[in-house]
Amino acid sequence: MHIELINTGHELLLGRVLNTHQQWICRQLADLGYEVNRQTCVPDDGASIQEAVREALGRSDLVLTTGGLGPTSDDLTRELIAQLLGRPLLLDTSILAGIEQYFKRRHGVMAESARVQAMVPEGARVLHNANGTAPGLAIELNPNPFLGGKRSWLILLPGPPRELRPMFLESVVPLVLAEFPQTAKFSSRTLKTTGLGESLVEEKIAAPLRPLVVRGLELGYCARIGEVEVRLSARGPNAEKIISEAEAIVRERLRSLIFGENDATLEQTVVAMLVEQRNTVALAESCTGGFIAHRLTNVPGASAVLKCGLVTYSNDSKIELLGVSELSIAQYGAVSEVVAREMAEGALRRCKTDYAIAVTGIAGPGGGSKEKPVGTVFIALADADGTVVKQKLNPFDRETFKSVTSQQALDLLRRRMLSQDSSEGL
Ligand code: ATP
Repeated sequence: MHIELINTGHELLLGRVLNTHQQWICRQLADLGYEVNRQTCVPDDGASIQEAVREALGRSDLVLTTGGLGPTSDDLTRELIAQLLGRPLLLDTSILAGIEQYFKRRHGVMAESARVQAMVPEGARVLHNANGTAPGLAIELNPNPFLGGKRSWLILLPGPPRELRPMFLESVVPLVLAEFPQTAKFSSRTLKTTGLGESLVEEKIAAPLRPLVVRGLELGYCARIGEVEVRLSARGPNAEKIISEAEAIVRERLRSLIFGENDATLEQTVVAMLVEQRNTVALAESCTGGFIAHRLTNVPGASAVLKCGLVTYSNDSKIELLGVSELSIAQYGAVSEVVAREMAEGALRRCKTDYAIAVTGIAGPGGGSKEKPVGTVFIALADADGTVVKQKLNPFDRETFKSVTSQQALDLLRRRMLSQDSSEGL
């Protein structure tokens, strides 16, 4: 099966909007066992869109386009496709009623131009838009005049991610599964790890997985900031069995380095563990500027476990809010093992939580020294049993520094909760 994705929008080519649809749609399809063969990005002018769609239909069973379904004059996709296919645009009164309702519910005024979104190329299937006014459109080309009369589908999706994603999951996935059933069974699983680099992860699992690779296992690695994903996939009648066996090997080899599956995040895992253990945490952040709190509060239900997050950026705030000793700062510096320890213990004492995490470091680009170069960070974790402090070197730009440091801090807590040696693999 040949699939092509066409992303439209001048803003994508100007670099003003990141083409997240490319990554997201390819990922959704890959997880179902469909691989996108080609992706094209074109500006939203008439000639480019028509040319790209015509070319793609000349090769493909399925073509997906994104963007240009809105009401403004630069949203041309619907009209251009109707023209290309030689199909008239017909007014769909139920879509129009839906658009009118949409504005009514929001007490807004419906511009006359919004009506264009109710125009449907003859014979197209309408894909409901739960979060906007422009429906998606799915057009069966049977025969496809650009592919020697074979059958193809052309699916048009809106640009805004909050509209496209639910529509894709609710309407496009069932359509693709029904119209292009998998000939061979497909199974895949992604295990997410933190604490080891990509090549070390590979070193631990590649050899024991080799016999399964011979039997059809596809093994992929994806390194992200502070994380490595191990993707296992297989096709055929034994796909599920191969994946189960591979997963068992990876889990046995990587053990506590694995923090979750598929789309899980480390903060979700940490919050879930705290909830399960009925424990609470406080944060005393300096160089991460609240980023650990930000990550934890992105998780629904975090309020049950995160009691307090203090951004104690200055020495005074460390002294006043956390009870760090002035002498320690003078003697060892604000970025030191001693101060990190005092910050965590102060947060634990004052916030009365089960755990407290503290971070203090030098994000750079200035402020480094020979003994404490840029990227130096101390991460402390305190609980009723005592305090551990880890020293790390994260010499990256400020944003990456914060991401990596927050990852290490959250992982320190996760490992403590697993009651394992907190230094394993770090
Ligand atoms: P609208 O009704 O908002 O005009 P539309 O279907 O016409 O929707 P576009 O105008 O092409 O879509 O895009 C709307 C917005 O959606 C863009 O400004 C951009 O923020 C976002 N967007 C479009 N394409 C992409 C993409 N490929 N990746 C990420 N975001 C995108």
